[in-house]
Amino acid sequence: MRLISLFYFFIIILFTSCPPAPAVVDNDNGQHAEEVVTDLPPVISPEEIEKRIEREKARREAKAPRNVILMIGDGMGVSQITAGLYSNGNKLQLERFPVLGLHKSYSGDNLVTDSAAGATAFSAGVKTYNGAIGVGMDTMPVETILESAEAKGMASGLVATSSIVHATPASFIAHNPYRKNYEAIATDFMDTEFDLLIGGGKKFFDRRETDERDLSQELRNKGYVVSSYFDEEIEDFKPEPGSNFAYFTADGEPLPYAQGRRYLETATQLAIKHLDEKGGERGFFLTIEGSQIDWGGHANESEYIISEMLEFDRAVGQALDFAEKDGNTLVIVTADHETGGYAINNGSKMGKIEPGFSSDYHTADLIPVFAYGPGQSLFSGIYENTAIYARMMDLLFLNRSDR
Ligand SMILES: [Zn+2]
Repeated sequence: MRLISLFYFFIIILFTSCPPAPAVVDNDNGQHAEEVVTDLPPVISPEEIEKRIEREKARREAKAPRNVILMIGDGMGVSQITAGLYSNGNKLQLERFPVLGLHKSYSGDNLVTDSAAGATAFSAGVKTYNGAIGVGMDTMPVETILESAEAKGMASGLVATSSIVHATPASFIAHNPYRKNYEAIATDFMDTEFDLLIGGGKKFFDRRETDERDLSQELRNKGYVVSSYFDEEIEDFKPEPGSNFAYFTADGEPLPYAQGRRYLETATQLAIKHLDEKGGERGFFLTIEGSQIDWGGHANESEYIISEMLEFDRAVGQALDFAEKDGNTLVIVTADHETGGYAINNGSKMGKIEPGFSSDYHTADLIPVFAYGPGQSLFSGIYENTAIYARMMDLLFLNRSDR
């Protein structure tokens, strides 16, 4: 009880004294020097403080997170994880998760889903047809969790190792009846005040074929920082804290990891740090996709799958490092579907996989879900892929009018 009172005390202190108060300080010579405070804190009304305390209290009672990081390894079934594990000294960051479940990945029109329908199940909680980006079976738009989060004042971001208009990231922010309409999908990014994006697909924004619009310029006009691999390495990209930004990692699709692409870990750290500062007490929702595990499966290339899977796993480790320190962040790792009917055949050894493939497309396997953080226990068991959306919405209170 005493701990709880102490907690509210700190919350009040936090809201009333964030920036340094004006003060008279002694300098080295013992003389007084006036500190000039130019940036006054925004005034928070007592009602708003009351509301925030109530929300914090409800969150604590429900053991709910402030932030959610949803990480999707596209095409990452159990075999892809196993191959990564045994190719990496029998060790994965994924082993740090205390809670595991399985989801049923089938789509609205096919037992074997594609990435568009798979991601729309996570982003909007509907089973839709293969190829659908943020729309239902009737092709009408369905609100996504990223849009709901933005509407409730949370910060939001998208990171991918494909182009950012590719099916998985697109399904969190765009609404289009067909996944290959990349330029139209890019246009939909203009309708949501997302806080950051990191991924390929620059040309769909600034060198469009279907119209004359320059969406990078339109973003700049809205106050976004827009940069790319063309201007600077992502390691050198230092967006102002508090800014909104887009950083393009490629003109079209980024290279495979094996050909030199290296940004997922840097992008994961950058995105989490930036959104944590921006979201503050209101929290953030971030989706990170390891996009090319799937492409290795389509190509039936075991080494491609493994190098992509292990990069994704390292990014997962970074998200977990943050969540462990933060204590208010739920990390969920899953895949939309398995790709390749990938098998680890007899003759495989630690460090050397003898692969088999039954397909160059996706399969209907159950897909693992890993969870760490407040609310983690809700992700054990076997459930529909759409349940992941419903549980994230509940845990972030995004269904509630008083959020
Ligand atoms: Zn695929």
